[in-house]
Amino acid sequence: MTLPETAGPRLRITEIFASIQGESTRVGLPTVFVRLTGCPLRCSWCDTEYAFQGGENRSIAEVRDAVAAHGIRHVCVTGGEPLAQKSCLALLAALCDAGFSVSLETSGALDIAAVDPRVSRIMDLKAPGSGEVSRNRWENLAHLTAHDEIKIVLADEADYAWAKAQIALHGLGGRCTVLLSPVQGSLDPTLLAEWIVRDRLPVRFQLQLHKILWNDARGR
Ligand code: SF4
Repeated sequence: MTLPETAGPRLRITEIFASIQGESTRVGLPTVFVRLTGCPLRCSWCDTEYAFQGGENRSIAEVRDAVAAHGIRHVCVTGGEPLAQKSCLALLAALCDAGFSVSLETSGALDIAAVDPRVSRIMDLKAPGSGEVSRNRWENLAHLTAHDEIKIVLADEADYAWAKAQIALHGLGGRCTVLLSPVQGSLDPTLLAEWIVRDRLPVRFQLQLHKILWNDARGR
């Protein structure tokens, strides 16, 4: 059924654009990104501060139709912190209902339990170098399944040691894919790759492909 364009709850949206997925196991796939406005965190290395404020109010039907207009099957709902807007849950379900393959990028600070199970949740664990380690909602780990992913962004060797300890303590490698990536310009990617191999960590190393391709330009 087609919803009227203005029906139902509205969301604050910073941008909707088509690009190549730069992270996660979906890396390299043409993807439509829906960036929701606002975030209650302030990570030291945040690269989307422009999404903290502004944006436009749009209905779920408007967002769904804007996504569909790109003609791409994969959709990533990101932010900011998308789950900070209550209507994000309804948007995720609507995108799944419309037949898209949907992923969600979330900070790990908010409850993920009510996210539609068809969605692949890419959940951060915030390392100390982010300045937001106290915001990790550890109860979320119990909700993760094999089609979700944990992402840990590392600013330095102390962050790596922290991540290694959490992986062991919580058995993260047995829950789902664990992604480790360096903060660009802060931690040498080659060093991180060598540490992972040296320690035989059960993780996937990743670089942010969109930054390599487009130097972190907005909307790419
Ligand atoms: S959670 Fe994401 S959007 Fe929010 S401050 Fe951290 S990196 Fe930026």
